[in-house]
Amino acid sequence: MSEFENLLREMEAYAAEHHVPIINERGRRAFLEIIRAEKPHRVLEIGTAIGYSALLLAGNGAEDIHITTLELSEERAKTAKAYIDRSPYSAQIEILQGDAGEILTQLQGTYDFVFIDAAKGQYVDYFHKIQPLLAPKCTVVADNVLFRGYVRSEEKAPRRYRTIVKRLREYIALTSGAEGFTTEILENGDGLAVSRRNA
Ligand code: SAM
Repeated sequence: MSEFENLLREMEAYAAEHHVPIINERGRRAFLEIIRAEKPHRVLEIGTAIGYSALLLAGNGAEDIHITTLELSEERAKTAKAYIDRSPYSAQIEILQGDAGEILTQLQGTYDFVFIDAAKGQYVDYFHKIQPLLAPKCTVVADNVLFRGYVRSEEKAPRRYRTIVKRLREYIALTSGAEGFTTEILENGDGLAVSRRNA
């Protein structure tokens, strides 16, 4: 196993031990397929956690990939930086610590790939806020959109999840109807919404 693969395994163990939600194994496989097929250059990630998915992106995207990743928690942003600094991709990943809802209104870049994986109740807001930042041809992937199966279930979700489920349904409806985008929902893992614009 390469040093980089060892680092990823170490991060998976850290996430399991410290209950940090990183992209799960089934979702990861579909996520990797997408990245390997699309080879993104300019990536915006919303929700860094400990930097695991950022490193998957860096290791499987274009050679010249640059990733801007946003994380609310100071502690997680620090842990992510420490892991990323141990990888071959530290010069290509920039972590911005703070509330994504605010940071998104200040960013100026153009991104061909966005990975939304932060506060599930905010996905609709994130999708609106990233519009001025998207390249004409772009892909937006959102994780957890089927949220434990509740989003597509006829059964009522437990009370504590109802708002999240309602908001994720709104996200799917928004991206499915967004002009210029085609959206597919992959059932892998906790559900990935993949929205592509080819213009
Ligand atoms: N993408 C990561 C991976 O797969 O390795 C996992 C991200 S985890 C599911 C979600 C992260 O979003 C958490 O670390 C959480 O602290 C962060 N988060 C939650 N609300 C946020 C916000 N408003 N702004 C930025 N980050 C936020």
